[in-house]
Amino acid sequence: MNLASYEDVLQAASRLRTVAHTTPVLSSRWLNEQLGAQVFFKCENLQRIGAFKFRGGYNALAALSPEQRQRGVVAFSSGNHAQAVALAAQLLDVRAVIVMPRSAPAIKKAATKAYGATIIEYDRQTESRELIAQQWVEKEGLTLIPPFADPQVIAGQGTAAKELFDEIGGLDELYVPLGGGGLLSGTLLSAQALSPACQVYGVEPIAGNDAQQSLQQGRIVHIDPPQSIADGALTQALAPITFELIQRYAAGILTVTDDELIRTLAFFIERMKTVVEPTGCLGAAALWTRGKQIQGKRIGVIISGGNMDIATLAQLLTTR
Ligand SMILES: *Cc1c(COP(=O)(O)O)cnc(C)c1O
Repeated sequence: MNLASYEDVLQAASRLRTVAHTTPVLSSRWLNEQLGAQVFFKCENLQRIGAFKFRGGYNALAALSPEQRQRGVVAFSSGNHAQAVALAAQLLDVRAVIVMPRSAPAIKKAATKAYGATIIEYDRQTESRELIAQQWVEKEGLTLIPPFADPQVIAGQGTAAKELFDEIGGLDELYVPLGGGGLLSGTLLSAQALSPACQVYGVEPIAGNDAQQSLQQGRIVHIDPPQSIADGALTQALAPITFELIQRYAAGILTVTDDELIRTLAFFIERMKTVVEPTGCLGAAALWTRGKQIQGKRIGVIISGGNMDIATLAQLLTTR
């Protein structure tokens, strides 16, 4: 298996240098006093397309051969990966086909279409998006860009943590939202190289703790489709490549509840004046569950994304 390395992260960083934002690192004096720790938030909600996924998507497309670029790419996603691949394809002048559920929010379909991608809709109940994407690979020679199970995607995602360490130096601990593990895997590569003593934790919704179970059992555990407001972290299993990197380098997996995510979302709006989608709150929500364990430490948190519609945001804030 070709595991990505920190060399790949460095190459991704040079590809992304002129196209991705170097996102800000924020902190809160109030929070630091509350927790007795020094916390640094890496704000990927302010990345292009509103999430870190632009990094991995762009790097994967930029790494294709001229022939592959000529033929185009296909991706399946109802979320941030769709927009990441669509924007990257527009910037690199590559044809993109995105397979999306017919039931996906109109606003997400419109955003993806606006980047010039072709959207293929499918019925979630009766059709398989993997099969549809595979047909485009076979018939049109498109290259499939996976959301996390790919060394170039992982290397691209790792550039966010690289920027964080480059800006603020070493950390004692770093908390990372975890779905399929692309962001965590890339983060681990950067941490190993730039702050080897840093304990890096993945954070999952408690209802979808497949990665936690996988580490406990030493094999990839598949779970039923979980229910959580963290809709970007509802993957049912890690991929072999992300499992391998996480098993090797992660300090552990933490879990948080939906209530903890909503409280964190409110904290970001009230105290930090920034909108973070529920999945993007995973890493930060773990801060309050760690209690005394973080006192006196330097803690990094990756805020992974900020895409949510206003109606959902209002509803979450009024139900808390
Ligand atoms: C995709 C996504 C995640 C999870 O990333 P993985 O690489 O699948 O672990 C977390 N947060 C946001 C906002 C995402 O879009």
